[in-house]
Amino acid sequence: MAAQIIDGKAIAARVREEVAREVAQLTERTGYKPGLATVLVGEDPASAVYVAGKQRACGEVGMTPFDVRLPGDASFEDVARALTELNQDPAVSGVLLQLPLPAHLDGQALTAIIDPAKDVDGLTAINAGKLCLGEEGLRPCTPAGVMELLASVDAQLQGAEAVVVGRSNLFGKPMAQLLLAANATVTVCHSRTRDLASVCARAEVLICAVGRPRLITREFIKPAAIVIDVGMNRLAEGLVGDVDFQAANEIASAVTPVPGGVGPMTIAFLLRNTLQAARWQGKDYQ
Ligand code: NAP
Repeated sequence: MAAQIIDGKAIAARVREEVAREVAQLTERTGYKPGLATVLVGEDPASAVYVAGKQRACGEVGMTPFDVRLPGDASFEDVARALTELNQDPAVSGVLLQLPLPAHLDGQALTAIIDPAKDVDGLTAINAGKLCLGEEGLRPCTPAGVMELLASVDAQLQGAEAVVVGRSNLFGKPMAQLLLAANATVTVCHSRTRDLASVCARAEVLICAVGRPRLITREFIKPAAIVIDVGMNRLAEGLVGDVDFQAANEIASAVTPVPGGVGPMTIAFLLRNTLQAARWQGKDYQ
């Protein structure tokens, strides 16, 4: 039987509708409109497209978008100043520094300047630490979106073998923490993992975020596994993931397509985080 195709577009649309409804209620009750600031340094076309998508989505759910742009030769101090101003601006609930930055800028050091209460990407040491400690905090958007996709197919995570391929700070590490918090038995793989195929073939939940087209082939997939493909690889034929979709469709019980799987969840959870940040900043009772 073919796998269930997890429709990330539809699930993200539902999350966005929920956020829009909650924003409208908050604004009606308090007069406050949550605001999301994006900071884009330089002219990287892919980053510009992502930022435009975030700005548009923000307006669609009734939040105020703040679009801060700095030239590609901006100094560390220039970017630090822009972030500090946004930290201090009460109209701004969330601040997102679009990565990657031009090579002369240290993305981690600049991310550290963002007020953890406004860190809607969940990438500061404070929010990463809170996630590790199991404390309430802003969670990275893509892994949070994957948890929603898993819930949509009623994935039984308790005690399940979950394998995450990729250990980036942006995705792999927080994904592993979220699965651990849901009581899965988690293995994290990376470029030095020996015999990746046999480790992956143990997984009841297999999540791949590497950035290598069709790395995950037939022999990596356990029958009836849930397969989540986070990879985004632009090839001449179009956007493809890290998973051989055809193989997953035949072997797995559920699989995300690329595009239309994980991708749409990231912006949806960015909006959810911005609303959450506004609430934690006390904006829903002022
Ligand atoms: P990244 O920082 O480049 O990390 C890639 C990870 O893959 C690293 O941990 C690396 O291992 C590991 N890796 C590389 N080659 C490998 C191999 N042959 N076998 C096993 N592991 C290998 O990338 P990222 O930011 O996490 O993103 C990964 C992919 O997900 C990209 O395609 C990106 O576009 C996509 N992504 C999509 C979304 C979305 O919204 N849909 C969001 C985030 C990322 P080492 O640590 O040992 O180098």
